[in-house]
Amino acid sequence: MRLILLGAPGAGKGTQAEMLTKLYDIPCISTGNIFREHISNNTDLGKQAKAYMDQGQLVPDSLVIELVKSRITQDDCKNGMIFDGFPRTIPQAEALDAMLADLNIPIDYVVNVEVPDELIVDRMAGRTVCPSCGASYHKISKKEDIAGICNACSTNLVQREDDKEETVKKRLEIYHAQTEPLIAHYKAQGKVLDVHGVGTVEEVRAAVKKALGVN
Ligand SMILES: [Zn+2]
Repeated sequence: MRLILLGAPGAGKGTQAEMLTKLYDIPCISTGNIFREHISNNTDLGKQAKAYMDQGQLVPDSLVIELVKSRITQDDCKNGMIFDGFPRTIPQAEALDAMLADLNIPIDYVVNVEVPDELIVDRMAGRTVCPSCGASYHKISKKEDIAGICNACSTNLVQREDDKEETVKKRLEIYHAQTEPLIAHYKAQGKVLDVHGVGTVEEVRAAVKKALGVN
């Protein structure tokens, strides 16, 4: 099974990716991990990627595709793989499609986890963490006993930069502009399974399985 997981940042894709890796016994492909591995092993591709990163530049799509290819041709991908966080743009999707067509292993499905923006903002912007013990809280689902104070160690809770409302909104804007067009791209190929991403982790998990025809 070869899958792409699509969904806005904060839509809960990570949790679903974890479930799917177990369900199909396939790895989750993260470009960040591939980069790190090649760089730490000092491979040719790793050296090329590092040269761009050291200059603060984006690694070009052609090189990203080579790196992804090196990963998905490994043994543990024989049953397939899940792409999470890649492709992010139409040019990347086109390059990935072409590479997979060359290898004769096309994507089977694109699982599109749909969550309204307002809900993502509520979910993320409601989070706080304890900088001392690492406990996490949420203003609705896991409230601390005394406002702003960690239950476990009485430290003042903080909001992570990534969880701040303006940061979340900015990331959503980028997602809508750059990544959301992939839904139409893969709908044209008849590969998109839309999944209602609102509800508990269990409910969304059941919806993902149902969309894939698994009980
Ligand atoms: Zn604490």
